[in-house]
Parts: sequence; C-alpha cells; structure tokens
Amino acid sequence: MDRISLIVPCYNEEQALPFLYKEIVKLAAEMPDQEFEFIFINDGSKDRTLELIKELREQDDRVHYVSFSRNFGKEAGIYAGLEAATGNYVSLIDADLQDPPSLIKEMYESLKTEDYDCVATRRIDRKGEPPVRSFFAKQFYKLINKISDTEVVDGARDFRLMTRQMVDAILEMSEYNRFSKGIFGWVGFKTKWIAFENVERVAGQTKWSFIGLFLYSLEGIIAFSTRPLVIASVFGILFCAIAFVMISVIVFKKLMFGDDVQGYASTLCVIFFIGGIQLFCLGILGQYLSKTYLETKKRPIYIVREKA
Ligand code: UDP
Ligand code: MG
Repeated sequence: MDRISLIVPCYNEEQALPFLYKEIVKLAAEMPDQEFEFIFINDGSKDRTLELIKELREQDDRVHYVSFSRNFGKEAGIYAGLEAATGNYVSLIDADLQDPPSLIKEMYESLKTEDYDCVATRRIDRKGEPPVRSFFAKQFYKLINKISDTEVVDGARDFRLMTRQMVDAILEMSEYNRFSKGIFGWVGFKTKWIAFENVERVAGQTKWSFIGLFLYSLEGIIAFSTRPLVIASVFGILFCAIAFVMISVIVFKKLMFGDDVQGYASTLCVIFFIGGIQLFCLGILGQYLSKTYLETKKRPIYIVREKA
C-alpha cells in the first residue's frame, strides 16, 4: 500500500486551515487505496494556527505537526516537512488553497503509470496579482535562467508530488540558504509539469511583500549562479581597457600639442562612475561572502519547539 505524505507549511493560517483540512480529507476519501499522513509545519505563527492543528490531531490520527520555536520561513518549513515525512510519495501544498488538493490524485496516477519521479505544477497566469509584481517576476525568471545552469521554471509553484527517491535527494542538500525552486531543478529527475490557472487564497493574507520577494529572488540568483561574480570581473577588465586607451590619447595629445588643463568636470564624472562600479562589484562579492559566512556557521535550518 502506498503512503502519501502531505506537507503543509503554515504561518498565521488560522483562517485558511479549516478550509484546507476539509479539502484534504475529501481527497483522502477519494483515494481509499492509499494511506495518508498530513504534516503541518507551524512556522512560528502568532495566531491560533497551532491550537487549530492540535485540535485536528485530537480527532484525526493522520495529522502530525512540527512546531518551530519562531518563524524560520517557508523554505525551512518545507525542509522540516520533508524530514518528517514517512510516505513513499510526498507532496508539498500551501495552506491557503492556492494549490488545489484535488490535483494530487492526478499527480499520483501520473507517477504510477508514467515514467516520472515528480509531478509539479505551474501557474499559467498571474491573475489577481499586482501588475508590477508580475512584471518583475517575469524578468526574474528570464534573468535567472540566463545566468544559472539550473532550470527555474516560470510560474512554478512548490506544489508537487515526489517519489521517496527524489525527496531523499533533496534532503541531502542541507544548505542553510535554501531556494527550493532551484533545489528541485538541481537534483534533476524526471518532472512532469501540469499547468493550472491562478487561484486566489481562500482567506487570510499573503506573507510576501514586494521587498520580501525581491530579496528572495536575489537569494535565488546567488544560490544558483556565480555569474554575477563574472560580471564583476568583466567590468574590471573593461574599465582597465578604457583607461588604457584614455591614457594613450592623453599622452599623445600632450606630446603633440603641449599641456592644457581641461575637462575637470568630465574627470569628476568618470571618478564617480568608476567609484560606483567598484562599490557595485564589491557589493556582489559581499553577497557571496555573506552567504558563505552563514553556510560555514552550519546553523540548523529550523528549531523545533514541539512536535507530534
Ligand atoms: N509560509 C510559511 N512561513 C512563512 C511564510 C509563509 O510557512 O514565513 C507558508 C504560508 O502559510 C502558506 C505558504 O507558505 O501556506 C505560502 O505563503 P503565501 O500564501 O503567503 O505566499 P504566496 O502564495 O502569496 O506566494
Ligand atoms: Mg498563497
């Protein structure tokens, strides 16, 4: 008998949880030949999320939970869930019903009958999202796919069903700076993509601000590409070349036409410009260094306060 683990990372989801629970119970009822386990990760919620989960556990022994000592972020939640899962098929699903649980049935069938290790989902539209956010999201996917060898699929969600083999591969990647969309691509395996239209969350609010998403995208780029460092070097070489040409011109002019003090303003501009580029490149270096610094500390990805 196959055992399917559903992992639900939750941060302040007291409003959405009852809806989700109803849906996953329905799903389990529609798949009587498979055994289910529901693993809720309480990521330091400040509302009644944990109490709700505990109530669910009292009436349903398929419910398990891991509760963090504070908010560690969704990535940590995913990792904790994958560690706790005991099923031979594991699914990640958001608490807000933006990921339709009913799709899991179709995913499972695909994994069983076709030669895939993972069935993942992507949104074909970004309905209900602010246009500015959609625009930047699109640019991000274009950029990261250009500069990284790991494929990051545009519109990909974390919502997916994976085989135990793939889950174990992901667990081996115990890095501290986690960017799941990259990790899923990096471990490889055969992934089938199913598309669905964007669904708005049932209740509660998104935890992502624009700045939050921006920083997360930088994290993704730094975690899965070293190309920005190359850009920094290219800038260096380019400006050396320009400086060389400029010096030659000045020496030549001086020899031919004598001295004339000119271009004070343009000199200042050049100094500012090059100073800016230098700081920019130092910044890039600093980003990698800071990530390396955090990795070498080998801090745990999350800390558990209680679990059951
Ligand atoms: N989440 C989490 N920790 C966080 C932020 C979010 O576990 O620090 C969970 C959240 O409860 C939800 C999922 O991650 O189940 C997706 O979050 P959200 O719906 O806010 O993101 P969006 O769908 O807007 O990208
Ligand atoms: Mg959501």
